[in-house]
Amino acid sequence: MTKTISLLGSTGSIGKQTLQVARELGLTVAALTANTQVDLMEQQIREFRPRLAVMMDADAACSLRARLSDLPVQVLSGEGGLLTAATLDEADTVVTAVVGSVGLRPTLAAIEKKKRIALANKETLVCAGELVMDAADRFGAEIVPVDSEHSAIFQSLQGCRDRSEIKRLILTCSGGPFFGKHHEELEGIRPADALKHPNWSMGAKITIDSATLMNKGLEIIEAMRLYRLPVEKVDAVIHRQSIIHSLVEYRDGAMIAQLGTPDMKLPIRYAFTWPYRATSPDEPLDLVRCGALTFHEPDTEAFPCLRIARECAAVGGTSCAIMNAANEEAVMAFLREEIGFNDIPRQVERALSRVDVKYTPALEDILEADRLAREVVRNR
Ligand code: MG
Repeated sequence: MTKTISLLGSTGSIGKQTLQVARELGLTVAALTANTQVDLMEQQIREFRPRLAVMMDADAACSLRARLSDLPVQVLSGEGGLLTAATLDEADTVVTAVVGSVGLRPTLAAIEKKKRIALANKETLVCAGELVMDAADRFGAEIVPVDSEHSAIFQSLQGCRDRSEIKRLILTCSGGPFFGKHHEELEGIRPADALKHPNWSMGAKITIDSATLMNKGLEIIEAMRLYRLPVEKVDAVIHRQSIIHSLVEYRDGAMIAQLGTPDMKLPIRYAFTWPYRATSPDEPLDLVRCGALTFHEPDTEAFPCLRIARECAAVGGTSCAIMNAANEEAVMAFLREEIGFNDIPRQVERALSRVDVKYTPALEDILEADRLAREVVRNR
């Protein structure tokens, strides 16, 4: 069980909810990291009193240092600071809640220090899942997923003694705000439309990924890596209510699922308390009042990102890293209103056609694929 955490990405949606759970469970916080939000960071530090704070942005680090001169907290900046936070001796658990492939190096560094990884950065497993899982095996580090679907699968696998009994994993997908629309109808979508998620409140990047269904594509790859299964054994089904968080289908036909209200605090709490469970202060799911649960096939014509992700998963090598980096860049361009909604999958496919795939890549090959894919999208 977790006693002391290092939280990478404390001012984002998962970061804030992690601190709520830390407060509730009485965890010690050794380090907090953020990009640029100095105000919120100062507030969090005054409450949780970590010994280390990191701002990715150097100017933000300077201004935070000045504001906290009355406290015995060290303030660092940049990727070096992030690595220090990920490897602090006193933290037994590292929560990786940063967005994007910037989470990769610190996650690997924390694994080498045998930390429990409460993994909330799916891009890490998408880009370098094999490297990360091999390192976790080699160093004996526990990886406990915080992503709600993967936590649901993790919970549904607790009684499973032999992984060959798994027939397939079924990830549920809310369908996002544009469920039922045709591809052409999505052409004129603006960021403000896409930022309205029906069930979950999340950061901008993942909300857009949920609207394009790229989020589910990334999660299929994340599940393949976490549970070492081929893409044929990982499916997605549209479930508009977000009550069933995912399922495991076993070879005898049994389906084991985890249900609950859509609240990230449950998977965060479980990542800290596993293999035990703590009492939640929140209202549990009311089965009678939650209404009918429905399921639909995903529409990969309207939402090509899901098809692209499955194709990359089948190809393997650096193709998932190329896809992920191109998607990050395309989503940012969409948020700046420089490209349209349907240009996101177009840019991803363009990057995939222009950057060569390397099979059995080393970390450097993955980082290079990430860089080249970003370049393709930036120079569109
Ligand atoms: Mg998820």
